[in-house]
Amino acid sequence: MAAAGRLGERYDVVVVGAGPAGIGVAIALGRVGVERMVVLDRHGVGASFARWPGHLRFLTPSFPAHGFGLLDLNAIAPRTSPALALQTEHPSGAQYAEHLRAVAKHFAVPFSRGHDVVSLEHDAGAPWPFRVRTRRRSIAARFVVWAAGEFQYPRLGGFPGAEHCRHTSLAQGWEALGAGDHVIIGGLESGIDAALQVVEHGGRARVVDPAEPWKYAQVDPSRALTPRTQERLRDALAAGRPITLIGDGPVRAVHAVSGGYRVDGVGIRGLRTRNQPLLATGFESSLSLLGGHFERDPETSAVLLSARDESTVSPGLFLAGPQVRHGAIIFCFIYKFRQRFAVVASEIAQRLGLSSGALDEYRTAGMFLEDLSCCDDSCAC
Ligand SMILES: Cc1cc2nc3c(=O)[nH]c(=O)nc-3n(C[C@H](O)[C@H](O)[C@H](O)COP(=O)(O)OP(=O)(O)OC[C@H]3O[C@@H](n4cnc5c(N)ncnc54)[C@H](O)[C@@H]3O)c2cc1C
Repeated sequence: MAAAGRLGERYDVVVVGAGPAGIGVAIALGRVGVERMVVLDRHGVGASFARWPGHLRFLTPSFPAHGFGLLDLNAIAPRTSPALALQTEHPSGAQYAEHLRAVAKHFAVPFSRGHDVVSLEHDAGAPWPFRVRTRRRSIAARFVVWAAGEFQYPRLGGFPGAEHCRHTSLAQGWEALGAGDHVIIGGLESGIDAALQVVEHGGRARVVDPAEPWKYAQVDPSRALTPRTQERLRDALAAGRPITLIGDGPVRAVHAVSGGYRVDGVGIRGLRTRNQPLLATGFESSLSLLGGHFERDPETSAVLLSARDESTVSPGLFLAGPQVRHGAIIFCFIYKFRQRFAVVASEIAQRLGLSSGALDEYRTAGMFLEDLSCCDDSCAC
C-alpha cells in the first residue's frame, strides 16, 4: 500500500474511512488522476471487518466471474475478486480485511492510519473549503468523501432500559455468553445469526421482531433475510433447535429484575430472561459526527443527497457506503454501494479539470450506476 508519507496540510481530496467504500472510491479517484489525496482511518484498512466475530461469514457469495464481464459480488474494483484471491465463497471478516489490504496495496492507495476524525468544518469561500479535524490535527481539503461506515457505531439506545442489553456486534465470543436462555431484540441478519450462535452453543433463543423478517422473501436483501440466513434458520428449526420467533413488539422497555431481566413491549408482557438481552437493532451512522453537513428527509430520516451523492448543504462533501439512499433505493451491500464510486470520482474529476475517461472500465464492469430507474422490485420467477 502506498504510504501517504508524512501527512500533509492540504489535499484535493480527503477520504475518511478505509473500509470497502473508502478504498473503493479512492481507487476510482486514483484512476482519474487525483494525486493530492489521502485516505484517513482511525485504525487500519478493513478495520471493521477485522473486528467481525470469528464465526461470521459473508452473506453475499463471492465468485470469480469477471472473465465473463460479471463482477464478483464483493469486489470493490474492476478486475478484482475476493473469491479468486481468497479461494472461498463466503469470506470471514479477517479474510476480507486481508483482501482489502491487498487491493489497497495493489492500487497504491495513499492511506494513513491513526487519525480519528471528530468533526468537519466547511467554509464555502475558502480555497480549501474543508477542515477535517482529527483528535490531534486539522487537514485542509477541497473535497471530502465520507466513508466512515456504520459498524463502529452500534445502536445502543432506542427504549428505556436499553443500557441493560448487549449489542450483538460487541458480544465477545458466543461461548462466553453461556448456555441458557437468551432474548434477542431484532430479527434481521444479526438477530438470526445471534440466535443460531446461541443454539449452537447449547442455549435457547427467543427472537423478537414485529416486522417478522424471517417470513418474507424480497428482491432487495436490504429489506429481508438473505437466502444464506434463511437456509441456516430453516435447517436449525428443522433440526429442532430451540429458536422461538416472536412477531410481537416493538420492545418498549427492558427492566433489570431480581434474577435477570424483563422485556416488555407491544403484545409482549414480561418476557423474562436470566441473561442480558441482546440488541440486534442495527447501527447508528458515522454521519452522527457530521452534524448539519447532511440534510435528512424529515419523514424517513434518510440522508438527502444530490444525484452525484453530494451533500445538499455542504458542496464538495460526498458520501460513499451503505448510508447512501436515493428514494426507496438502499445501497447497503458492497455490490450496491460500489456502483456509485465512479459517479463520485467522475464528478470530482470534472471539478478538478481531470478527464474521467479512465472510468469507462467501471462502465464495462457494470460498476457505474447513474440511471437509478434500473433498480426495481420485480422478479420474473
Ligand atoms: C454482521 C454483518 C454482516 C454483513 N455481511 C455483509 C455481506 O455479506 N455482504 C455485504 O456486502 N455487506 C455485508 N455487511 C455490510 C458491510 O459490512 C458494510 O456495508 C460495509 O462494511 C460498509 O463498508 P464501509 O467502508 O462503508 O464501512 P466500514 O467497513 O465500517 O469502514 C469504515 C472505516 O472507517 C473508519 N472510521 C470510522 N469512523 C471513523 C472516524 N471518525 N475517523 C476515522 N476513521 C473512521 C473505520 O475504522 C473503518 O475502517 C454486513 C454487515 C454486518 C454488520
